[in-house]
Amino acid sequence: MTTLTGKNSIAGSWSAEGSQTFTSIDPRTRRPGDVNFHSATAQEIDRAVTEAAAAFQETRQYPASRLADFLDTAADEIDNLRDDLIATADYETALGSPRLPGELTRTTSQLRAFGGLLREGSYVEAIIDTALPDRQPPRPDLRRMQVPLGPVAVFSASNFPFAFATAGGDTASAFAAGCPVIVKGHPGHPATTEIFAIALNRAVEASGFPAGFFSMVQGDGIDVGQTLVQHPLLEAVGFTGSLRGGRALFDTAAQRPRPIPVYAEMGSINPVVILPGALAARGGALVETLVASATLGAGQFCTNPGLVLMLDSAETRTFIERYTAEMRARQPQIMLNAAIESGLARTVEQTVSSGGVEVLTGGEAIPEGGFCYAHTVMQADSIQFRSNPNLHHEHFGPVTLFVTCASLDDLRLTIGTIEGQLTGTIHGEAEDIDAARPLIDSLRERVGRLLWNGVPTGVEVVYAQQHGGPYPATTAPATTSVGRTAIKRFMRPVAYQNLPAALLPDALQDENPLDILRIVNNTYTRESIKP
Ligand code: NAP
Repeated sequence: MTTLTGKNSIAGSWSAEGSQTFTSIDPRTRRPGDVNFHSATAQEIDRAVTEAAAAFQETRQYPASRLADFLDTAADEIDNLRDDLIATADYETALGSPRLPGELTRTTSQLRAFGGLLREGSYVEAIIDTALPDRQPPRPDLRRMQVPLGPVAVFSASNFPFAFATAGGDTASAFAAGCPVIVKGHPGHPATTEIFAIALNRAVEASGFPAGFFSMVQGDGIDVGQTLVQHPLLEAVGFTGSLRGGRALFDTAAQRPRPIPVYAEMGSINPVVILPGALAARGGALVETLVASATLGAGQFCTNPGLVLMLDSAETRTFIERYTAEMRARQPQIMLNAAIESGLARTVEQTVSSGGVEVLTGGEAIPEGGFCYAHTVMQADSIQFRSNPNLHHEHFGPVTLFVTCASLDDLRLTIGTIEGQLTGTIHGEAEDIDAARPLIDSLRERVGRLLWNGVPTGVEVVYAQQHGGPYPATTAPATTSVGRTAIKRFMRPVAYQNLPAALLPDALQDENPLDILRIVNNTYTRESIKP
């Protein structure tokens, strides 16, 4: 096993200047671990960002192929520590197998996929409008491409110790852009964070990159994150976690003398609509499928289907009864940490005490053993749902709220009151298509991903993925935190006007030496520009 130091990793050096410490907590037993992790001091955070800014002066000049090689090396170094990472994360999160091995494979695949994107090269989005000297007034030569932003702070998520953490999607996409990264480790899995830092430090060194390209700071209070986001040399923030945390960091970044973008992926209740044709054709199977999705990973997914909308009928009532029985019959799983268990208890309590909602099963924490909350089903009607904001809040865990609607119009009206979401799902058969059309139209305005006859958990990491959505699902609805286009968050376009060829980057040269897909005079092409 890797020997842990409990220190922060500042530009390749291990550092523990602060006296404030915390430990891992085993979620299965609620007992503390024996390594003391040091919360980073303001001086350590300053060093991390200053070194990152210095590193950026080099890495922003690197060709894409060099960054791609680095990403491959990082994935290899993580693979070298695979057994340690899985065992340590299991101790800290209780997420177990097959979840953790699968998530680690996804994490290294993401790093390598960004390498592929860089080697192909077209991600710089070169757009060229050549000069029209004879036009009146003459049109200048304009050539635009994406360039990296600079040092990025990445906040790890509690519920994805690998794929949305130290070397997760935010870090991979920022590195791919050429941006140095300072990770704020999640206090729920500090040992896992440290092992990732070892792997990434090895990759930085083996690749000959400046040490400031990667730093990791630990902390179990908001001070570390707040200090980091306020640092004047920081250029952007990637975050996955609560609405409260994401919004606080967004506000902090906006109040800086020089505001910077915050790409925060936050809460979502992921509405699922079940139409009558689907209910009649496969209601029994749908119970199984939906319960499996709602209880996966103890319901601790930002894509957990927390809200199910149905037309009120005898069949719907039978469906909800069966769903409730299935939720009650399944063994609740261990949750990640005390804050998540108590946060869930608090939000359910708030919802129930606000009135108009019936608890069909669950509704309480399970005190024996580890952190655990009963599988919970609640029900309300559409009038109550529309008028009670508590019913729109995320209940982060194995909790489902059924909302019954009097008619299709009522269903459409109800969807119209839902805030921004990561996903929206419709279950329907051929006879439901006409009914589905206006619902999809309304859902599209509120979500990042629309599903037909599926479950929202299970986010494919492919080019076409959109993992984002209007606020409050995220603070940046035009972007995604999963898939290759996630790189766009850490780049910005620059247009070069009338620059001589000798001063233009390769991506914008007439000859197209990188052989990338470009838009030249309004047409997608790989052709060179003829004189
Ligand atoms: P969190 O409380 O938002 O914390 C995430 C990270 O942000 C932690 O490193 C935390 O630092 C930091 N942070 C939080 N508030 C901050 C602030 N005001 N200023 C500076 N930094 C701040 O999320 P969590 O611990 O993962 O889980 C708590 C709740 O978040 C859950 O109950 C759930 O509702 C929600 N959640 C949502 C998702 C999702 O994907 N939608 C995922 C996970 C959790 P410290 O902990 O060191 O203070």
